[in-house]
This record gives sequence, C-alpha cells and structure tokens, in this order.
Amino acid sequence: MKIAVARENRQGESRVAMVPELVGKLTDLGYEVLVEPEAGTRAEYADALYVEAGAVISERALPEADVVLGVNALSSDRARQLRDGAAVLSFLPVNSSHDLVEDLRDIGVTAFAMELVPRISRAQSMDALSSQALVSGYRCAIVAAGLLRRFFPLNMTAAGTVQPAQVVVLGAGVAGLQAIATAKRLGAVVQAYDVRAAAAEEIRSMGAKAIDLELETLEGTGGYAREMTEDRAQRQMDALAPYVANADALITTAAVPGRQAPMLVTAAMVEQMKPGSVVVDLAAESGGNVEGSVPGQIIRIGHAQVWGGDNVASQMPGPASKLYAQNLVSLLTLMTSEGEFAPDFEDEVVAGAAVTHAGRIVHEPTREAIEGPAGPDEHLDPPNDQEDEK
Ligand code: NAD
Repeated sequence: MKIAVARENRQGESRVAMVPELVGKLTDLGYEVLVEPEAGTRAEYADALYVEAGAVISERALPEADVVLGVNALSSDRARQLRDGAAVLSFLPVNSSHDLVEDLRDIGVTAFAMELVPRISRAQSMDALSSQALVSGYRCAIVAAGLLRRFFPLNMTAAGTVQPAQVVVLGAGVAGLQAIATAKRLGAVVQAYDVRAAAAEEIRSMGAKAIDLELETLEGTGGYAREMTEDRAQRQMDALAPYVANADALITTAAVPGRQAPMLVTAAMVEQMKPGSVVVDLAAESGGNVEGSVPGQIIRIGHAQVWGGDNVASQMPGPASKLYAQNLVSLLTLMTSEGEFAPDFEDEVVAGAAVTHAGRIVHEPTREAIEGPAGPDEHLDPPNDQEDEK
C-alpha cells in the first residue's frame, strides 16, 4: 500500500507531515512512501533526505496513494485527485470547514481529523494538539523574551542589580504551561491564571505562582474550560487588571474547545501597562485573548507592543513536524494490520477521529450541523467495513 506525504499549500505553512527520520517506521509497517516534491523544504528537510530514508519523490504521490498524510486538510481540488476510497490524515477543523467536509463526503474520501483524536491515555502519543501546543507555548515565551528590551533573569553584578522581568501567563493548558516553564528557565518571575480547578497545582509544579482571583472555577466536559458568562468575564477582567498593569510581558494562551478564544484583556487594560512592555497573544488567530491583537502582526496599544500569533507552531517547523509526524506514525500503527491500512471503526480512537467515510459524514456533531437532525431510523454508527479500506 502507498502512503503519500502532501506538500502543504496553506499560506505561511512551513511544517510537513512526515520527516525523513520516521519514513523507516512507515516502511516497517509495510507501506511504500511517496513524497510530493519539496514537501519538506520549508522545514529544512530536502527531498534527498527522504530518498536516503527510502521514500520516492513523486509529483503523482496523491493520485497513487491509499493514504495521504498532511498537516492541513487537502483542498477539495486536491482531494478530487485521490483514488476512490483513499484516506487522509491531517488537521481538519470541522467547525469551520463545512463546505470541505461535504466535498470529502461526496468525493468518497475517508478523512480523519487530528484535532478529534480522543485525549485518552492510550492515545497520548497520537495527540497532535498537545505536540503542537508544546511548540507554540515555547515559542511564545521566546518571542516575549526577544521583544522585551530588558533581561528576563535577575542579575547581581558589581555594577549593580538588575531586577528580573515580571511575566504573567493567562491560560495554563499545554501551551501555557510550556510558556511558563520556558519563561521560568529564562529566569523571569512568572505568575499565571487559568479557570480550571486543576490548573493552580499545575502552575505551581512549573515553579510559577498561581494567581488566585477568588472567582469560581469553570470546568467543562473532559477537563476542559467552559465558556464564561458576560458577568464572569467582567469580574475576571476587573480582578486581572492590576496583574496585567504590573507585567513586563503578558502571554495569553486561553482557549475553549469548539469556541472562539475568550477575550480576557481589553485594550484599556493593556493601556495601563508600563513603557516597553510586551504582550504575546497566542490566541490571536482564533479570535484573540487580547482586544485588538492582529494575527501575524505586532501592533502598539498604549505603551505596549502587542504580538499576535499566526500558526505559531509553524515558526519552528523542524521540531513541530517531527512531533506531528510521530503522532501520525502512532495513529497509523493503530490503523495498520499486516501491512494493510485497515482502520477498525469499533476502536474509540479511530471512530473518534473519523470525519467522513464511505460517502457519509461519520462525526455526528458535524453531520448534524451540515445535514440536520437524524431521522428516527437512521443508523449513525461508523460502519465497520474494513474490507472497503483495502
Ligand atoms: P486549550 O488549548 O483548550 O485551552 C488552553 C487553556 O486555556 C486551558 O487550560 C483552559 O482552561 C484555559 N482557559 C479557557 N478559558 C479561560 C479563561 N477565561 N481564563 C483563563 N484561562 C482560560 O487547552 P489544552 O492545552 O488543550 O488542555 C486542556 C486540558 O486538557 C488540560 O487539563 C490538559 O492537561 C488536558 N489535556 C489532557 C491530555 C490527555 O489526557 N491526553 C492531553 C492534553 C491536554
């Protein structure tokens, strides 16, 4: 069976779904690996490295493949080049991609979305949201340190003492905790806040101070945060304002699954920050935690430079690609049996990640959003027709 590694077409995307180092894992599983020309170039993986690792560079990788690996979803036009029944594994933001999901259904592609891989212990090695959040959280702290025109660490020298930078991190999920850990390693004094009950302990375990706003915690399903009411949001902003005003660097990473990023910091709060201060908003491209932040740009609000994140993981394409490729290898290992791509739709991880299969939308919330409520007799479980996949 043939696996194709797609060349990414998204503007500004530098990652690639498979790295030369892991091609051998795919051939060990029994796959022939085809790579579209220059697929890895922007992540510093030249075509020759894939060839050395045992892959074939081919312009016809997509039409010949049984399985396609991508970072971003294929466009409808590219998906139409695929063989009947071919499968695609990539990120696929289902809530904002209804037209594409309909096309994938109609084309007959079996599409898996990496965002939908259930976050259970068994699937940790397949969790691409976490691997990419790790990269972007690190990057945010480095960007803040780079933009700030002063030291992060305390310096005690013969010429006097330089006080450490005060860093505030809002949102302490995977990205936020990595930003905290990185800022701590650089020597800053770090304080952080998150709405989840478990977060305070996680923040402290990174060596930072957990900010206690004396507000109720907001826990949703699966250990994720819930959306705030308007009143809760206002009280949180009022309580956070002095921490923001006192920060040299503010890093925001808050998100609520399936929703726009919550707005946590108003422009008026940023205007209270000191001259030379820096704001790094990782959530800028999903609505923004900071009012006025612009993805991919640095703007000025009051005295602060405000940096808006835009596909931040792609700014470190080598490690981001390697971690993502390892996530894919783990998922493919689960979906491969005796050298054949044979996803078992009875498996919780496979069923959870599946979006379209055999001409149907099998991710029920997406199906309902696109096709409307199911009739009483409709059978909605993903079919267990592995034979179709071979
Ligand atoms: P995320 O990207 O959805 O959100 C980032 C953070 O923003 C979260 O910690 C969230 O609580 C926080 N947030 C949301 N609204 C906020 C607000 N108004 N103010 C401040 N903070 C706010 O989260 P994530 O990084 O994907 O992780 C979310 C949870 O999932 C964490 O508990 C994490 O440990 C857990 N997780 C579990 C697994 C696993 O079991 N395999 C893997 C990854 C993450």
